[in-house]
Amino acid sequence: MTDRDARHRRAMQKLKSHVDERIAEASEQRGQLLVFTGNGKGKTTAAWGTVTRALGYGYRVGVVQFIKGTWECGERERLIDDANLEVAIMGTGFTWETQNRDADTRACQTVWSEAKRLLDDPNVYLVVLDEITYMLKFGYLDVDEVLEALNGRPAEQTVIVTGRNAHRRLLEVADTISEMQEVRHAFNAGLQARRGIDY
Ligand code: ATP
Ligand code: MG
Repeated sequence: MTDRDARHRRAMQKLKSHVDERIAEASEQRGQLLVFTGNGKGKTTAAWGTVTRALGYGYRVGVVQFIKGTWECGERERLIDDANLEVAIMGTGFTWETQNRDADTRACQTVWSEAKRLLDDPNVYLVVLDEITYMLKFGYLDVDEVLEALNGRPAEQTVIVTGRNAHRRLLEVADTISEMQEVRHAFNAGLQARRGIDY
């Protein structure tokens, strides 16, 4: 064995014992609250990736999309035939264009009632609240009510929240927070969003 091999082996042994220690410390098993936020691309993609992961083991999953329902979404197209997946989409209302608080609030409340049902169902393993951060930001949803539903959910249920500018109080109760940092985005160089890549 060369010196370099020996050094590598010692380093790996040290790393392994460190990782093993950390694994032994992580003893708690329960559902979690994950927040995918920040200005960079990848929040909704990561949420759908996790949905696919959970469905892969036969778990039941609910996805609630707090955006206008006509938006295309390739993952939804691909997964919707899975009997374990339920998708609730905000049918009308909220877009950047409408700026009609009344209609938006009503549309938001309707889809939020679907979310509350999922957050109350112990058979649902994973719930995604896609773009819900904007509903809180614009005041279409009450943060206390959202936190109450999140805190009261079944112990085994995991929730993923996506969207920019996540509310401080949401971050306070999250188990995992990932901030997608925009280092560069093609859109700023005039590139159009691409089907099958961006939606
Ligand atoms: P994705 O759905 O690709 O994972 P996202 O959920 O992180 O993106 P959103 O803020 O929800 O991002 O943006 C919705 C749309 O805008 C998507 O088509 C996404 O690709 C695009 N997008 C994401 N980040 C940026 C950005 N920094 N500038 C311009 N467009 C963006
Ligand atoms: Mg998104």
